[in-house]
Amino acid sequence: GATIGILGGGQLGRMLSVAASRLGYKTCIYEPGGDCPASHVANYHFQKSYDDAEALRAFAEAVDVITYEFENIPTSALDILEAHRPIRPGREALRVSQDRLTEKTFLNDLGLKTAPFANVTDADSMAKAVAEIGAPSILKTRRFGYDGKGQARLKTAADSEAAFADMAGAPTLLEGFVDFSHEVSVIAARGIDGQVACFDPGENVHADGILRTTTVPAKLTAGQRMDAVLLAANILNKLDYVGVMGVELFVTAQGLIVNEIAPRVHNSGHWTQNGCTVDQFEQHIRAVVGLPLGDGQRQNDVVMENLIGADMDRLPELLNARDTAVHLYGKAEVKAGRKMGHINRITRDT
Ligand code: ATP
Ligand code: MG
Ligand code: MG
Repeated sequence: GATIGILGGGQLGRMLSVAASRLGYKTCIYEPGGDCPASHVANYHFQKSYDDAEALRAFAEAVDVITYEFENIPTSALDILEAHRPIRPGREALRVSQDRLTEKTFLNDLGLKTAPFANVTDADSMAKAVAEIGAPSILKTRRFGYDGKGQARLKTAADSEAAFADMAGAPTLLEGFVDFSHEVSVIAARGIDGQVACFDPGENVHADGILRTTTVPAKLTAGQRMDAVLLAANILNKLDYVGVMGVELFVTAQGLIVNEIAPRVHNSGHWTQNGCTVDQFEQHIRAVVGLPLGDGQRQNDVVMENLIGADMDRLPELLNARDTAVHLYGKAEVKAGRKMGHINRITRDT
């Protein structure tokens, strides 16, 4: 069978490898780190730097198609890889989502609502941004942020200088604080033939910037559910996207507001492993190798809970719990804030 190249060796790469293996594919990961979650299950591991042009070429030649589990792949590496093999999802999705400014501009151009935002490059533009956006607001680095890292909250305009200093000169965006009732996400898939399939939206609860739980079904009216799925399809079509994408949304009295998009399988889609016949990982593999998308109908009500750091102390109890599937990432060391695994608890048959 064919071999799928995966950039990144974390838990998402691991679960993609497992799904690929179930469909008869081999996987080859590219990950500078050694003992990483995906390296335990992938068939091959290029333990090389993203600066190593020779290794990138050899990797591309060893695989049939290239996908990825994180969006911050250096452009120089993508240029080398793309000269040899197709990268799916394509470059446009990466270009748009690597930078919060291009991302929000793209979404607004599509007619979708985002938080109000202003670009901040120096103390002057910071003062202007605060005058325009006001407070409460959030200053976010334009690139590389995840799990709420690279963010400073402004309760009032008086917090402006401290927040700016916090960012140590990195390019940032000031975002108005959205008064949402709750957060949901759509995990959407698009095949090579342009077919789109969305999983049922999940409701997400964050603590300290990190996803804690995803619950399906989400609290949404039929109209909101329809809006969420249609706007996600709109985004994927515009990008001529191939693969799975996570679309994070704020639910407000004024309708749905897009927080951010992730051009990959997404933590808030882990419930699909025990809620659907075909989960987000298989759906992504199907899309990138050009197979038809599978049946992603939701079969169960599910609560997905991340196991972060000391949550692992609850493992004995969780392994004995009813209706509970435990998924672990094989990370050797437990650390505060580190995602070690997750559980999917079936709460009701639909
Ligand atoms: P991820 O790990 O999802 O990539 P991230 O570091 O990119 O996270 P965001 O998704 O931008 O961070 O923000 C994390 C959380 O902070 C959001 O899910 C939401 O709860 C809250 N948040 C972010 N931006 C806003 C906003 N403009 N208004 C209100 N809450 C916000
Ligand atoms: Mg993010
Ligand atoms: Mg987010």
